[in-house]
Amino acid sequence: MNILKFDQHPDWLGFTLANPYNTPSKCQEGITQADGTLVSASWLAPGVLKLLPQEILHKETWVLSAGIHGNETAPIEWLNQLLASWCNGDWVLKEPLLLIMGNLKAMTQQERFLETNMNRLFGPDTPKGSGYEIERAKTLRKILSEHYQQHPAHFVHYDLHTAIRGSKYERFAVCPLSSGKMSDTQRNFLETADIQAALHNTTLSGNTFSSFSAYQYGAEAATLELGKVHPFGENNLNSLTSLTKSILKRLSGESIDITRTREKLLHFKIKGEVTRKTEAFKFYVTDEVDNFTAFNPHTLIAEDIDYEYRVGAQTEYILFPNPKVQLGHRAALMVKKMA
Ligand SMILES: [Zn+2]
Repeated sequence: MNILKFDQHPDWLGFTLANPYNTPSKCQEGITQADGTLVSASWLAPGVLKLLPQEILHKETWVLSAGIHGNETAPIEWLNQLLASWCNGDWVLKEPLLLIMGNLKAMTQQERFLETNMNRLFGPDTPKGSGYEIERAKTLRKILSEHYQQHPAHFVHYDLHTAIRGSKYERFAVCPLSSGKMSDTQRNFLETADIQAALHNTTLSGNTFSSFSAYQYGAEAATLELGKVHPFGENNLNSLTSLTKSILKRLSGESIDITRTREKLLHFKIKGEVTRKTEAFKFYVTDEVDNFTAFNPHTLIAEDIDYEYRVGAQTEYILFPNPKVQLGHRAALMVKKMA
C-alpha cells in the first residue's frame, strides 16, 4: 500500500470536492512501491499531484489531466481511480507523472465552466484578464512548463474529456500534431487504448490544454473524448479498460511494440470551422445530431450576417456542434476523412 492521505476523506476526488482551494495537509517523501522503489508525492497546487519516482527511466515524462470542463465527470472519476489503484499497490510508477484535475470550482458545481471555457486558455500567449478560470489556466501553464523543463524526455500529455453530445465513435482523440504527422508511437497507443477515431489537428493555432503541451513542448498529446457527460457516480468506466491498460504499461516502463498489427483507427482532418459571429447566427443542425454525423456535399450548416458555412464537394462530418457558444467562438468543427 502506498500511503497517501487525503485528510479525513477516503480519496482524492472526495477531498477535492470538499476542498477546491486547498491541498491535503501532508505530502510524502519516499512512498515505497510494490517493487521496493521509492516515489515522492507532492501537491503543486490544489488538484495537482506530482509523483516522482526516485529512480526514473528517463524515457517519458507524463501529464494526465481531467476536469478542464468541470462537469465531465467520467474522466475525473477515472483519474481518481488511477491514483487509488496506485495507492493500493496495483501498479508501479517508473516515470515522472503529473495528475491534474482542472477546473475545480466548476467541478464542485457540476458545471462545464463558470466564467469562461478553460480549454481555450492555453494558446501561445498567457491569457489576459481576471477570474477563476484565467488564474487557474495561468497556474497550470506554469506547472506544466516547469515539469517539462525539470524532466527532459519524450513528453506525453493526455487530457481526458467527455462530450456534450453522443458520438458515432464513442471514444475519439483530437490530436494537435506539432510535427504535422502522427507518430507511430501515438498511433499505436491510441489503437491499443481502443480509441476509434483521431482528428489530426495541424491547422488551428491551438488553445486547448493538450495543444499547449504539443505546440510549446513538442509533446505527444491529445484531447481524448471518452463518451457522454453524466453526473458524478453515474458513469460506467468499463469502456475505459483498454485505455487504462495502455497508459499503465507506459507509466510502468514496459516496452511497447510499435509494429502495426492492426489498423482500426479512423483518421480525420479539419475542413473548416463554423463560427457564431453575431446574434443573427442561424444553425441548421438539430440538437440530436451526434458527433461525426455525415453531411452531404453542399449542405448548408450555418448562416450569419455576410457569412455562411456550406459543406464542400466532399462529405463532411460534424464535431462539437454547440450553437450556444459566446459570440466569436466556434459553434462546430467540420472534418473530413483522410485518404
Ligand atoms: Zn471537455
